[in-house]
Amino acid sequence: MDKLKKEHRALWDLVYESLTRTLPPHAIKTWFNSAKPISYSEKNLTLSVPSQFFSEWIDSHYKEQLVFALRSVTDDPRSTFSLIVSKEEKEAQNVSSLSPQKSKRKSNNANKSYRFKNFIEGSNNEFAKNASKSVANSPGVSNFNPLIIYGGVGLGKTHLLHAIGNEAFKKSPDLNIVLVTSEQFTLDFVNSLRKGKTLEFTRLYRSADILLIDDIQFFRGKEQTQEQFFHTFNELYQSGRQIVMTTDIVPKDMKGLQERLISRFQSGLTVDIQPPDFEIRVAILLEKSEQNGLNIGYESIEFIARHIKNNIRDLEGTIIRILAKSSLMNKEIDFNLIKEVVKERVGSSFSPELTIEDVVKKVSIITGIKEREITGKSRKKEIAEARQLSMFLSRNIIGSSLSKTGLYFSGRDHSTVIHAIKTINKKQKTDKRLKNQINLAIQELDLSF
Ligand code: ADP
Ligand code: MG
Repeated sequence: MDKLKKEHRALWDLVYESLTRTLPPHAIKTWFNSAKPISYSEKNLTLSVPSQFFSEWIDSHYKEQLVFALRSVTDDPRSTFSLIVSKEEKEAQNVSSLSPQKSKRKSNNANKSYRFKNFIEGSNNEFAKNASKSVANSPGVSNFNPLIIYGGVGLGKTHLLHAIGNEAFKKSPDLNIVLVTSEQFTLDFVNSLRKGKTLEFTRLYRSADILLIDDIQFFRGKEQTQEQFFHTFNELYQSGRQIVMTTDIVPKDMKGLQERLISRFQSGLTVDIQPPDFEIRVAILLEKSEQNGLNIGYESIEFIARHIKNNIRDLEGTIIRILAKSSLMNKEIDFNLIKEVVKERVGSSFSPELTIEDVVKKVSIITGIKEREITGKSRKKEIAEARQLSMFLSRNIIGSSLSKTGLYFSGRDHSTVIHAIKTINKKQKTDKRLKNQINLAIQELDLSF
């Protein structure tokens, strides 16, 4: 097996192939298609996987099978594997575990995976993004000081805050960037009091060139901490250092925040992030599913975007949940599974389900062919096409099973349904009229969701 040492790719191909014989296809597709062989040395195969979540999942669910496959391919009972998270994420984890006390001065403790470049822009957040960028490029110089990013939960405030830290650090690595949550700030302050190290506390925070504080709503009611923050704020502000804060309550409505803090904040700029609209949700889902190695069709993406509306964390969570559920339940990722997950997540606000009957009604209106004919046996070209279209929509849009769909159309079997779906899929690529009918049906059926 000497040759394999260099040929880690060839080795991985064999191991992968062996895994396909012991694991179900969905597990291979979900968890192993995105794994990349990095090296094979000292009997250890290193694989890179997209995220920490993948690494933990593979380790806790497929370790035995992976080791077994590896050992049978190398023919060496000592072969093992290790998983690494692809580079950017790993850096992020290393750095984000540093609290400012431990980090050296002139450093950046922002999470490296939160960047401007992976912050998807839409009309709901462009102002906040642009202001953040401008501050990152010229900290303390513009009128945007302090900059306050305001918005609901899960809309990207923390992401932007870290992106400012990362961007500023990239431009000027000698800046001292201090990024903390307001809770950490409070904790540091309380601890410094307890240990009689208030000087250290002051030194740490007042040496910041850029001070980034997440979730200042937690300062509410904590008078001593606010007092400290006020001094820190003034000192930094007066010497032209940049301060950025995030909050989920408009500062002026924040009861329990001292007036003088509020009026200080008003000297800068407050930008807000609104909930994402449909197009932005689709864009985010496309991006996040790609990042997580989840390969689902556009219709499924739209389906999720239609139902999960509140925030981006929910959208991301849905993607992760789909992956997890498929593995836990040993199920293919198909429309039914996606529907189940979405339903779980939106709970009672999930609208009543559409039936095949609704679909047929809609197709009948769009094509002008009677419902009775669509579900009947006629082989006339237009009628057969309307029937195929109905099958296609029933399956793809409302996710009805093959057999149930077949049954509804005069007891046809599931192979007829598969054929119908294939035919429509192919035809719609060249047939504009058909494509329009599909879009129209999707659009109109949506209204009843
Ligand atoms: P908040 O701090 O406002 O509660 P976060 O910044 O933690 O929200 O965002 C929640 C998740 O959604 C994070 O994983 C973040 O990367 C992601 N996210 C939010 N907004 C965007 C966006 N516009 N583009 C890409 N990812 C986003
Ligand atoms: Mg946050």
